[in-house]
Amino acid sequence: MNLNKEISKHIESIFEESAKTFSSYQLTKELPCLSGCGACCLSQEISASTSEMLPSAFRLLNDEGIERVEELLDELEGTPSKTCVFYHRNSEDGTKGYCMNYSTRPAVCRSFGVAAYRDKNGGKT
Ligand code: SF4
Repeated sequence: MNLNKEISKHIESIFEESAKTFSSYQLTKELPCLSGCGACCLSQEISASTSEMLPSAFRLLNDEGIERVEELLDELEGTPSKTCVFYHRNSEDGTKGYCMNYSTRPAVCRSFGVAAYRDKNGGKT
């Protein structure tokens, strides 16, 4: 196995672990993400490191092939300020949709909602 693949597998195991921790936080605080909501994916402030995108790169290459990878790269170069290329909109305003990269989405996407908490009155903040 080459080094990048090894790193990618390691990152995926970290993703799995963090997903468990975050799910537990959501359950405990009763702050679940709404089904079908894609509001966080509309943000143009989301950034990810190269290493955390490795699992996405390998998945794309294995599942969809080099042509799809090149298509996405062209899309990114042509529209650098748009929202995430993996987001599929299901509503006109884009607040409803889903991730086409869900299984290998980067760490930041696995913790949308962590910034939310309950105030002293139990309200969502
Ligand atoms: S990778 Fe998926 S979850 Fe993350 S911003 Fe893009 S569409 Fe949303």
